[in-house]
Formats: sequence, C-alpha cells, structure tokens
Amino acid sequence: MTTNANSIINEEKINELMDLNASKEKINEILNKALLLKGISMEEAAFLLNIEDDQLLNQLFKTAKTVKEKIYGKRIVLFSPLYISNYCTNNCLYCGFRLVNKDIKRRKLNIDEVVEEASAIIKMGHKRVLLVAGEDMGQINLDYVEEVIKKLYELKINKGELRRININIAPLSVEDFKRLKTFNIGTFQSFQETYHRETYKKMHVSGLKANYDYRIETMDRAFQAGLDDVGVGVLYGLTDYRFEVLAMLSHADYLDKKYGTGPHTISIPRLEPAKGSEVAENPPHAVTDKEFKKIVAVLRLAVPYTGLILTTRERADFRREVLELGVSQMSAGSRTNPGGYCEDDSAEQFEVGDHRGLDEVIKELSETGYLPSFCTSCYRLGRVGKDFMDLAKPGLIQKFCQPNAILTFKEFLEDYASPETRQAGMECIQKHLAEINDEKLKQSVNKKLDRINDGERDIYI
Ligand code: SAM
Ligand code: SF4
Repeated sequence: MTTNANSIINEEKINELMDLNASKEKINEILNKALLLKGISMEEAAFLLNIEDDQLLNQLFKTAKTVKEKIYGKRIVLFSPLYISNYCTNNCLYCGFRLVNKDIKRRKLNIDEVVEEASAIIKMGHKRVLLVAGEDMGQINLDYVEEVIKKLYELKINKGELRRININIAPLSVEDFKRLKTFNIGTFQSFQETYHRETYKKMHVSGLKANYDYRIETMDRAFQAGLDDVGVGVLYGLTDYRFEVLAMLSHADYLDKKYGTGPHTISIPRLEPAKGSEVAENPPHAVTDKEFKKIVAVLRLAVPYTGLILTTRERADFRREVLELGVSQMSAGSRTNPGGYCEDDSAEQFEVGDHRGLDEVIKELSETGYLPSFCTSCYRLGRVGKDFMDLAKPGLIQKFCQPNAILTFKEFLEDYASPETRQAGMECIQKHLAEINDEKLKQSVNKKLDRINDGERDIYI
C-alpha cells in the first residue's frame, strides 16, 4: 500500500461516515447550505446518501434540480463514444472485453476504419467524441493514438468536423501523459471503478489494472504531466454505493487541494449485462433507480461545478428523470463495439439501454425545455483546468455556455436535423434567446445566428 493512495482514500473514515443518519432539521440545513453553490462536506454528503424517507428524498431531488438550473441553466452537452479496439490484457470480471473472454470477436480499427466510424458520427451531427479502447498497450500504443487523433481532427465532411476529442484509454506514465498532451486532447478519463480496495482486488484478477495504487494515482500522473482536464468515475454495482460516492468525493477533494483543480467531469456508469460476465449479469451490489437518482443529486450538491456525464447505458425513460437532477453531458446514438457505427458484428462492451438516434434525442430535449449543445469553445480558447473552474464559479455558464449552445445547436439544425426536429429546435432556440437578459449579448448572438444562416460555421464566443 503506498502512502499516496492512503492519503487519497481513508477507508476507515469513510466506513465511519457511511452509516451517519441525520434528523429532518439537519437535512434541511444541509440542503439550504447546498443552495449557496459552494458544495457540501463529505460528512454532509453521507447524511444525504442515507436519506430513506420519500418526502426528504423529494426535497433532495428538488434542491439538486435548483442547483443544476442555477449553474447550468437548461443546457445539455452531447457527445458520442468512438470505440477503437476491444483488445485487453486485463481481466476485469464485469467487462465483456476482458482478456479471458473467448466469446467475443476481437478487433482493432485501422486508420481507415477509424475514419469511417468518425464519418458516421460526424454525419449524425456530433462535434465531440470520446475515444475508448480496451487496455492493451501493445495494440493501443501512443504512435497509433497520435495518428488516430491527428486524422480525426483533420477530417471534414461537408460542414461537419470533430472539435473535441476526449480520451478513455489505459492509464499512462507521466512521460506518456506528457506526450498525450501534445496531441491536443480534451479531457482524459479513467475510472477507478471501485474505490474499495478489497472489492477492487476481487474484481481485477490480472493485468496492470489489478494494481489499485497505480490506478488511483493515474490523475496525479496526469496532472504532473500538465494535463488540464481529467475525468473520474465509479462503476456502480460493485460495492456499497455510499462508500463509492464518499470515496470519489475524497479523491476529488484531494486533487483540488493538491493541484488547484478537481476533476473536470464525473461519470456515473452503472453495471450493465456484458457478454461472458457473471458479475455484470448479477451485480453484487446492484444500485436501484431510486439509489441512482440519489447518487446524482448528492454529487450535484457536493461538487456543483463539475460536469456530470450520463451515458446510453441507462434506459431512455430513466435518462429523462435523471437529467433534471444534475447531469450536464450525455452521450447519444452510441455504439460500444469497435466498428459499431458502420454495422460491425464484433461484441459490445456492455448492453446499451437507450437505442435512440441523436436526432430523436435532440427532438425530445428541445421539446422538454432543454437546450442541446455541441459547444467546444472553452478548451479551444484555453478556458481549461483551473482557469475554467475560476470562471465557472462567477457565471461562465451564463455568459459563454448559453450563447455557444444556441450557436452550435443552430448549426446542428441547419445541417443534420430532420424536419420535425428542426421545427422543435428552432422554437427551442427562440425560447432560450428570449431568456438572455443582457441586450448587447442577445444582439451579438442574433448577428452570429444570421451568419450561420448564411452558411458560416464554427462561430463561438
Ligand atoms: N479500458 C479502459 C478502462 O478500463 O478504463 C477504458 C475503456 S472501458 C471500455 C470504459 C469503462 O466501461 C470502464 O472504465 C468501466 O467503468 C465501464 N464498464 C466496463 N464494463 C461495464 C459493464 N458491464 N457495464 C457498464 N459499464 C462497464
Ligand atoms: Fe479491459 Fe477496461 Fe474492460 Fe477492464 S474495463 S477488461 S481494462 S476494457
């Protein structure tokens, strides 16, 4: 056990906090504090995670919704994963890609195939992808990753292109992270999966990922190498969700204190069935929908400025419910197998719960009051890492995110939407434009919308 891992996660302390219960008055006090948008402590989060009473739970959900809307408004950022390989030298019991699973067809995309997949994603209307790969450094070495990223940024299809490439590949050494940074990536994501050491050991049987300490120190190495934005996550269902949420908050707090900025995003995957995985079929600590909503709400209150990512692992109807509690980014139209967008038959990593295409998701978002966004401006203008957080707190979202969401959404409606989605989307844009109070800003957005009408693209503030 290294000293560093211990200073990130203090299991004893978390175990003590995990069973804390609070009176109704205390819960209300915590919820009122959360409305100040400055976060809540781990202890306070523990009290909220133990709410069982339905009335108090609704109170928690209502508060999360208020906090979410105060900070993010109705904007939802969309992206799509791009799986480039399912080769893996690890043996994570919950995953369809694990080394010992002989039931799946293995595939690593060559550069032409990556371009074909990316083209299909661009033709849907996406501007952001999350590059995903199994952990086999022999297959997914940095020369290959560099070539893939270069090709993806160069790719233009009519007026479409990818403007931000986030990464979820195997953790790297400091040296390799330094090299990765030069590829102009967005956020580097890597999930601890479970922060509980004993569960971690049981679930990660062999391969480099079996080393808990190396995994948990991934973000240290990333920050030491100068990466700006990192994304953390837990795979819910492996152990008690209360432990996981508190441990992840402890990790976020550690990063914030040590490097001046916490994680840029938090992902909240929940175990889904995966071919050849008994654990995925029968999660040892299955998280119910109600518990999942509680997790999202508590995270929203605890780290109000951190992006929360919801994927297509979850069912469409449930995504609607969870969205309002604090999610700020979601994937849509996803495939979780390499080659999946061009209809390949290699195995999915896990079963997807929301099978709708991007157009359908966008139409629903527009009709239910949300503002779909394809914005990538912050990172392209250097508003990243600590700078992003410093701006986010006094109102970055209202000043930049809302107008940029409107502008990028308009591009989508012009270039990719079906007639019905276009109509719903144009009404949505009018509604959100009307909500901009600053007249000068509104005028400037209107002028930019005219330029998009005239065929110009990639206009942002
Ligand atoms: N191989 C890299 C890794 O393990 O970090 C990155 C890619 S992995 C394909 C992305 C994430 O998928 C994992 O971090 C894990 O949380 C999630 N995952 C694995 N098996 C899953 C399952 N059965 N259901 C839902 N998510 C799963
Ligand atoms: Fe490999 Fe990642 Fe799946 Fe583990 S979760 S088996 S490391 S692809």
